[in-house]
Amino acid sequence: MIWLAGLVAPLCVIIAAIVAAIVSGAVAAFIVLALGMLGVIALHLRGLSRLAQWASGDLDAPVPEASGPWGKAFSLIHRRARARTAVQRDLAHTIARFQSAAEAIPDGMIVLDAQNRIRWANRRAQRQLAVSPQSDIGAPLANLMREPAFVRYLDGGDFDEAVVVPSPREAGVTLSMQLVPFGVAEKLLICRDITQLETVARMRRDFIANVSHELKTPLTVVSGFVETMQDLDLDDNQRKRYLALMQEQAKSMRHLVADLLALSTLESEQYGIAETTFAVAPLVGALLADAHALSGGVHDISAAQVEAAEVTGSRDEIASAFGNLVSNAIRYTPPRGRIMLGFRVDDDGSGVFSVQDSGIGIAPEHIPRLTERFYRVDRSRSRATGGTGLGLAIVKHVLLRHQATLEIDSIAGSGSTFSVRLPASRVRRVVLPDAEAVPLSQSPSNERASDTR
Ligand code: ADP
Repeated sequence: MIWLAGLVAPLCVIIAAIVAAIVSGAVAAFIVLALGMLGVIALHLRGLSRLAQWASGDLDAPVPEASGPWGKAFSLIHRRARARTAVQRDLAHTIARFQSAAEAIPDGMIVLDAQNRIRWANRRAQRQLAVSPQSDIGAPLANLMREPAFVRYLDGGDFDEAVVVPSPREAGVTLSMQLVPFGVAEKLLICRDITQLETVARMRRDFIANVSHELKTPLTVVSGFVETMQDLDLDDNQRKRYLALMQEQAKSMRHLVADLLALSTLESEQYGIAETTFAVAPLVGALLADAHALSGGVHDISAAQVEAAEVTGSRDEIASAFGNLVSNAIRYTPPRGRIMLGFRVDDDGSGVFSVQDSGIGIAPEHIPRLTERFYRVDRSRSRATGGTGLGLAIVKHVLLRHQATLEIDSIAGSGSTFSVRLPASRVRRVVLPDAEAVPLSQSPSNERASDTR
């Protein structure tokens, strides 16, 4: 007990004074008592001054050392200080872990006080909303987010739903902001970049609108003819003509549905590639035969240079992609134009299938968009030749599944070359005995989504 330790020194002085009184009389006892008490007071003053010195300095500085009651007092303080340091360390550790967890979250997070002033923001939020940790901490959030929809949301107090706003920093970026009240009157602002989701949603909307539009046109034509045939008394010739026109429209709807199904199959990841290794030359031969049939003999179609090679991949998918390119070349090349198919293996081992035509060509501004679904340079020409606007989208998906790329070279009015580059890992050059030509023997062509236009 500290008070007992505090009594030791005064008791010693008193005993010394009693001994002095017995030995030397009252004067000596008084002197011993006075000097002893002065010593005790000096001892306490020294302890007090050390305590004051320690308390006014850095609290993490070591606690002063002393003997007697002050020693005990200091060791008590020392124990408390150590416990406080341990708690502080734990707290700092917890805060650091919370902060690193908050930094790892892929969303922006901002802590707001009751007056909607920024108390803390993780790095992502600093980037998303241009929050400066130097100058914006303590500033009202409304200074940074002036978007009216967000200001209304912040002031409205109904935080059940998030609000979607354009980024105040980057054009074209959309943010979803949700406030979550916590504590007494604080709020956590969670800020998520939903640009990608928005783009996908917009693409889906556009796609549905496009499909509906594409189906509506032939359906309207067919139902118009049906009504005419019901209402009018037609002669045999007229009836045959109308039925032929209706069949044409039905065919274009069938092509559209077939292409849509082909696209959705290619897109669904659960369908892996049915890999086989097949010779290129017979495939080119089959494409050549189909091309002649499709052209009806009005084009000059040839396969001049076909290097002997084997390709590994889905034969059906690759045949469908190559077939789409050949069919396009025929459909966009006027009669008597030239179309040339080819396959070569480059020095780096990649294989290039090319379709060169002397057709209508494509202006440069359209080229980057050709593989978008339903993108057409000339809608009426595409329709008139049985196009669905999905052929190159199918090609793109097939190539993606085979790590291949599409290169398009074209001059408007002069013609185009569409080249598919297959990676070296999928191509193997075949060495033929000297002077043996590559056999373009025709194997039966495979069912293809778009080759029957
Ligand atoms: P479509 O069914 O309309 O042909 P595609 O996706 O196959 O759809 O092609 C998209 C567009 O690219 C076509 O509408 C056409 O404008 C253009 N195109 C494709 N191939 C050629 C080509 N060989 N020559 C000129 N234009 C082409």
